[in-house]
Amino acid sequence: MSNETSSDFIISKLPKTLLARQIIEQAWELYCQFDVHGKLIYASSRFNERMGFVPDHIEQFIEAVESDFRLDVYKLVVNTLKTKTSSRLEFRARGAGEAYLWLECTAIPFCDEKGELIEIAFALQDRTRNKSQESHLVAMAFHDPLTGLPNRRLFKERLHQLLQLAKRTDRVFALLYVDIDDFKIINDTMGHDIGDAFLQVFVARVQGCLRENDTFARMGGDEFTILLPAVDCLEHVESIAQRILASIEQTWEIQGHSFHSTVSIGITMYRSNLTDATQMMKEVDIALYQVKGKGRNHYQFYSH
Ligand code: GH3
Ligand code: MG
Repeated sequence: MSNETSSDFIISKLPKTLLARQIIEQAWELYCQFDVHGKLIYASSRFNERMGFVPDHIEQFIEAVESDFRLDVYKLVVNTLKTKTSSRLEFRARGAGEAYLWLECTAIPFCDEKGELIEIAFALQDRTRNKSQESHLVAMAFHDPLTGLPNRRLFKERLHQLLQLAKRTDRVFALLYVDIDDFKIINDTMGHDIGDAFLQVFVARVQGCLRENDTFARMGGDEFTILLPAVDCLEHVESIAQRILASIEQTWEIQGHSFHSTVSIGITMYRSNLTDATQMMKEVDIALYQVKGKGRNHYQFYSH
């Protein structure tokens, strides 16, 4: 016969505190528990290791949470106290050595025999690695692997956003369509690898002509688009197009090959009656086609 009382359902030979500690340490990577006044009762040994501190008070724990998530953590605490049920939240917090961690947090309420809530625990799992894999996958879905530029999909989103903003604020922006002249010849005469390396340096040269807020995207092959938000006049756009043409005309030295190259650029500007991304794309395509027809190595504004 066991000498445990009928309410004791645990028949482990371990003392209860040791048993509880081992369960906690093995179930969660990080764990801390507070009384209703927010005073620390227990923090697992790995908490200090990962977070770089042991919180004396619940506020100290919340202070380590990145500011964008802090309100959600307060809500989590209030909800746990109110409903006396556990709930979960993901947030970023400052860990040891100033590195940020993504934590999946389960807030657990503890009640006494009368059902009064007396303690609250945060059981945490480190999801930093999953998050970085997730964001890598997201980045891959929106970027071109060869050049690292935004791809067609991301470009479309940005164009759509700019159109919405322009419609609301009447802020003019420019769309440029850039196509390398006779790129096939580079591939055919020097090989695809040189073609790839050329594309990478090409991107760096064009980026050198742009500002941080501009969007430079690879649509595919040797076709690129540029969005210049908030341009004040045509001359501004023209000077950027001229800068790009000049930078591409500089002699190319790629893996022992020295050669020359040029680009053609079609341009259109947002107008208040122009609300359609497809129409804008059509316009830059027409303008680009005209440059190609006139002998390449130039830019052309769409004329309607
Ligand atoms: P145009 O002046 O009329 O633009 O002539 P082009 O030779 O540049 O012709 P086009 O733009 O039609 O050809 C693009 C070429 O780009 C065709 C394709 O072989 C090559 N290409 C497309 N993607 C890649 C890539 O990722 N790497 C390399 N090396 N070549 C590519
Ligand atoms: Mg081309």
